[in-house]
Amino acid sequence: TAQRVFNFSAGPAAMPLSVLQQLQEEMLCLPGAGCSLMEMSHRDQAFVDILHDAENNIRSLLNISDDYAVLFLQGGATLQFSMIPANLIRGTEKTGQYLVTGSWGKKAVGEAKKEGNVEVIYDAKESNYNHVPAAGDYKVRDDAGYLYYCSNETIQGVQFQSEPECPAGVPLVCDASSDFLSRPLDVNKYGILYACAQKNAGPAGVTVVIIRRDLVDSAKAELPGYLNYKNHAEADSEWNTPPTFAIYALGKVARWLANDIGGLDAMAKLNEQKSQLLYDVIDSHSEFYQGHAVDCCRSKMNVTFNLPSDELLKKFVSEAQTHDLASLKGHRSVGGIRASVYNAMPIEGAETLAKFMTDFAKKNG
Ligand code: PMP
Repeated sequence: TAQRVFNFSAGPAAMPLSVLQQLQEEMLCLPGAGCSLMEMSHRDQAFVDILHDAENNIRSLLNISDDYAVLFLQGGATLQFSMIPANLIRGTEKTGQYLVTGSWGKKAVGEAKKEGNVEVIYDAKESNYNHVPAAGDYKVRDDAGYLYYCSNETIQGVQFQSEPECPAGVPLVCDASSDFLSRPLDVNKYGILYACAQKNAGPAGVTVVIIRRDLVDSAKAELPGYLNYKNHAEADSEWNTPPTFAIYALGKVARWLANDIGGLDAMAKLNEQKSQLLYDVIDSHSEFYQGHAVDCCRSKMNVTFNLPSDELLKKFVSEAQTHDLASLKGHRSVGGIRASVYNAMPIEGAETLAKFMTDFAKKNG
């Protein structure tokens, strides 16, 4: 259909309409450039300016100091599962310690094991990944190579409300792929904070890595050049051809966040409202909808729940479609429903879904 729907996809996900319109307007000819952004050398000053602009927009949204490099890389969030241990522990006696609160943390552990010593110090598997640990639930070694966690588990819909406890000398490493730029955070608490763009920050193709400068030159082992953070930091993300279009679009999303939304505090409030609309329906129809995450750890990005039967689940998804509510099916590994209400989902989308859920429960409960 030619009509845009409320798109609850978990990623690649909805983008702000005004950003899509700007991309459309500039698609054939970037103003002043004589060609499309996609047809331009990454060394062209016009693109270099766009890259710096995108970086500066992210720096100002998150208040990132000069102690950190901001890199635009390829290989998705998935390549960071390997790059982090390859740079920080490979070829050393150090151990990467992991908190596993869902599928993405588990995958990261699997990749890290190929690079060096890895220890899972908390795993929420027993409770089917429905919560995050409290401070006393795990112990980080003072000499750990890093402490790794995933701030928002996209598949389970479980989110840390604040950073986990981490000893001062241990770099805290975070996969923020599905809640990056959705709320303010203090970058100074992190060694590395990274996120693929395709949920809150833009289209697929670029991964933002915010890395403390003293960690950039950590690799002790001989690594393929692309895997070494140092190369990217020294070359300002132009060690090889970066994903130019994705960076350009990401810069526009960051600008939209600053100018149209009013920054990350305002964005966080909106995200809180959108997810709360859905959790309220789940709570007031708790005999019908079974929420996955325990209350304290509910994600403001991915609202996950189940229905009383597979039959009702199928009916829910197909009826929702007729109300222009799309991509609500949960991840194939866990089933159920997953409503992703990232930055670009308008409040009207969450309101429409909440109303649909209430009506559906009344009719089928
Ligand atoms: N981490 C998280 C939290 C994710 O949600 C995803 C993608 N859904 C990934 C990692 C993997 O990202 P990519 O597909 O870009 O490698």
